[in-house]
Amino acid sequence: MLRKLSLKYNIFTSIALTNLESNSVGSLAATSYALKDNIVTRDAPTTCSSKILANYVSPFESTVSRLLAEEGSQLVGKTNMDEFGMGNSSLNSHFGPTLNPLYEQKSDIVDLKEKEFWIRGEKITQDITFQKQDAGSYLHRKYLVPEVKLDYKIDPEMRIVGGSSGGSAAAVAADLVDYAIGTDTGGSVRLPSCYTSIFGFKPSYGRISRWGLIPYAQSLDTVGIMSKNIKLVRKVFSILDKHDTSDPTSISEEKRIYDDKVDSIIKIGIPAEMSFDGLENDVKEKWSKLLKRLQKLPNFELFLISLPSLSKSLPAYYTLVTSEASSNLARYDGIRYGYRTGEYTSLEPEFAKTRSEGFGAEVKRRIILGSYSLSSYGYNSHFMNATNVRSKLIQEFNSIFKGPHMLNKHRNPNGIDFILCPTATSLPPLVSQYQKITPVESYMNDILTVPFSLAGLPVINIPLGRSIGFQLAGQLGHDYKVLKLAQMMD
Ligand code: GLN
Repeated sequence: MLRKLSLKYNIFTSIALTNLESNSVGSLAATSYALKDNIVTRDAPTTCSSKILANYVSPFESTVSRLLAEEGSQLVGKTNMDEFGMGNSSLNSHFGPTLNPLYEQKSDIVDLKEKEFWIRGEKITQDITFQKQDAGSYLHRKYLVPEVKLDYKIDPEMRIVGGSSGGSAAAVAADLVDYAIGTDTGGSVRLPSCYTSIFGFKPSYGRISRWGLIPYAQSLDTVGIMSKNIKLVRKVFSILDKHDTSDPTSISEEKRIYDDKVDSIIKIGIPAEMSFDGLENDVKEKWSKLLKRLQKLPNFELFLISLPSLSKSLPAYYTLVTSEASSNLARYDGIRYGYRTGEYTSLEPEFAKTRSEGFGAEVKRRIILGSYSLSSYGYNSHFMNATNVRSKLIQEFNSIFKGPHMLNKHRNPNGIDFILCPTATSLPPLVSQYQKITPVESYMNDILTVPFSLAGLPVINIPLGRSIGFQLAGQLGHDYKVLKLAQMMD
C-alpha cells in the first residue's frame, strides 16, 4: 500500500525497505514519519531532488533525525520536493513531480524496477540485507530508490500538491505516516499543508536545529512539522525544540519561551493587506465564514491591522533568498561530492559543465538572479533595499504584538496576541495550468507566506476544508501559544 501510493503520487525519493526493529522505547515509540530529502541521514541518500546530489549519502546525521530516532520514531522514507526547496509546486524535481493525493490520479506515474537500489552511489541490483554494524557504521538499513524516469503520464485533472515540501505533505495526506518533517524558507511547509488539508507548523527561526539541513537561504530556513493531528505536531515540536551547539543560529536555552498560556480574551489581528484582495471565491467564502464565526465567540476580539511593508515583502524575499542561494550553491562543483559530468573538453571548466547538467532550470534562474543582486550593479539597489524592507517589516510586526519579543522585552499593552490570514489565495491549480505560468507568476503564490518567514515568526497552517487553510502566527518565540490556540480552534 505504501509503495503503491508512493508510486502513484511520486511521494518518496527513497523508502526504507527493511522492517526496522520497531523501537518500543521513547516518547515517539510506535510513530512513523517521513523526512524531506534535504535533511541528511547517514543510511539513506539525501538528494534535495536534484541531479547534482542524486546519489549522495551524508557521512553525518542531522540533529532532527537523530532526536526523532532517539525517541523511537520510525523513518519510513525521504520525500520528494522542489529542487533545493526552490518552488511552491513540487513540480521542480529531478525525480518528477509529486501529485496531490486529495485528487484521484488514474495512472501510475513511475515504472519502478523492483530490485534496484542506490547505496552510496552504487547501483545494487540484488536483494541485500545490511547488518547493523559496529559503532560508527551506517549501512544497517536498506532503501529503495525509484529509477529516474521523466516521461510521466499525468492525469489532466490532477492538481499540484504545493511545495517545496510536497512529498512530506502528500505522505501525511495519504496516511502513509503519522507525521512528516518539511522545511520552510518562505512557505514550503504551510502551502503544501494548505493544499492537502493538514496542519503544517513553521516554528520561530532558530528553534529547531538546522544541523544537517542542506541550506537554501540560511537566514530564513526553518525545519517544520506536518500532521493531521495537532497534538502530535506539538509533541514532535517539544522533542525537536532544543538548543544545538552545532547550529550557530540555534536559540540559547535561556531565551526559549515554553509558556503556552493564552489570555482569556484573545486579540487577533487581521492584516488588511492580506485579507481579501486577490482571493479566489472558494477561499474568500471559507475565510469570511471563519471570521464571522470568530466574531461571535465571546473570548475572541478581531482587529483590522495594517503592516505597510507587507506589500514589498515578496520582492524583498526573492532578492534575499536568491542571493543566499547563489552563494550556497557554489559548493556544487562536482569536485568534492555529488554529480560530475562524464565528458568535458579543456575549452570550458569542468565545474561549469557539471553545474549546467546537474541543476534544473529554476535553480539556474535563481543563481543568476542572486548573482546579479550581489554584484556591484545590484548590491545597493537590490540587496540592501531588500534588507531594509525586511528590517522595517520586523519592526512593524513587533510594534503590533502585545507580548514581549523573545529577544527584547518591549511590550505593547494595546497590541494583539496573534495574526490570522489565509495561507493561499486559491485552490491548488491543475498541473497543466501551473506548467503554463511564468516564473514570476508562480512566485506570486508565496505572497501570503513569505512575510512571516522574513520576520522569523512562528506560524501554522490550520486546515479549513478541502485544499484551503489559514495561517495563525504569533510573536517571535511564542511557539507554544500558537500551537495551543491552533489546538483550541481545531
Ligand atoms: N516558494 C518559495 C521559494 O521558492 C518558498 C520555498 C521554501 O519555503 N523552501 O522560495
